[in-house]
Amino acid sequence: MNLSKKILSWYDNNKRTLPWRVSQKSRKKQYYRILSEFMLQQTQVKTVIPYFNNFVKKIPSLKVLSNKNEKTIIKLWEGLGYYSRAKNLHKTSKILIKKYNGQIPKSFVKLKELPGIGDYTANILLALIYNQSRVALDGNVKRVLFRLDNINTENQVNLFKTKRNGDLAEALMEFGALVCKPKNPICHECKIKNMCAYFASRSKIGFGRKIKFQLKNYDIFCYLKKNKKQIALTKNNDLGFLKKFNLPKIKEASKKNKNWKFLCNYKNSISNKKLNINLYYKFSSKIPFEYNWYSLNKNNEFIPSFTKKIFKQILHLY
Ligand code: SF4
Repeated sequence: MNLSKKILSWYDNNKRTLPWRVSQKSRKKQYYRILSEFMLQQTQVKTVIPYFNNFVKKIPSLKVLSNKNEKTIIKLWEGLGYYSRAKNLHKTSKILIKKYNGQIPKSFVKLKELPGIGDYTANILLALIYNQSRVALDGNVKRVLFRLDNINTENQVNLFKTKRNGDLAEALMEFGALVCKPKNPICHECKIKNMCAYFASRSKIGFGRKIKFQLKNYDIFCYLKKNKKQIALTKNNDLGFLKKFNLPKIKEASKKNKNWKFLCNYKNSISNKKLNINLYYKFSSKIPFEYNWYSLNKNNEFIPSFTKKIFKQILHLY
């Protein structure tokens, strides 16, 4: 059984009943999903439930929402916080009614033009409403994927092939919230523990003991384009635990770094490794053939967070 089947079978037997989880065919689906996704931004499920129930009782559809005034919406939102979400939802409902005939667009680009909808919300709505194959990375999902194998999200897309894309997106979040929790994941009951790098490393060390971090020194070398905010990355690096990551050149620290300029030193953790990193750079338009140029600014889903931390440091140079 592949990973997606295992997660989905766990989900089918364990998912919570939540008021916005209506059937695929329900006419309320689009409205309930967009409303709940706005409410769930920065807020926990158990806090959202009573607000959601009250909101849909008073405002039962997108059309009704678009005709209300902002004060009414804010009043119903009172206590949930982050009121910009309520204002954006209200503006979005008006656009959806006027421009899209009350339907949520099927295009990622068009969805992202709507107020309050970023990458994550666009991805999750497309998966949930249109069953599109989308990687919607909230904190729960990032943690699950990271613990499973430490590999980047590009590879995860292949690991999670299924026809039930919407269910899978939700199943991963649910699994992260209920089983693969931030503290004390319930590994002994986990259906995918035999595929999990974190479980394997904990088994070796012993579950009663804390993972001991090894601090190691690494040098990272970044080729940069002078006027374009671009960095050269490759998946071709020799360090096993970073295999298949999109990265600049990385190697164990040495003192022979003559042709590179030192930028900074910082620490980053991966699994049970703590990396003490010296970051070097040079401006160059020529790069080795196994590298490709990437924008430092574009929010690229397939750049792992380890590499994004490098981007952050590098951006200080521009
Ligand atoms: S074995 Fe533990 S860490 Fe690994 S996926 Fe399952 S719950 Fe998460």
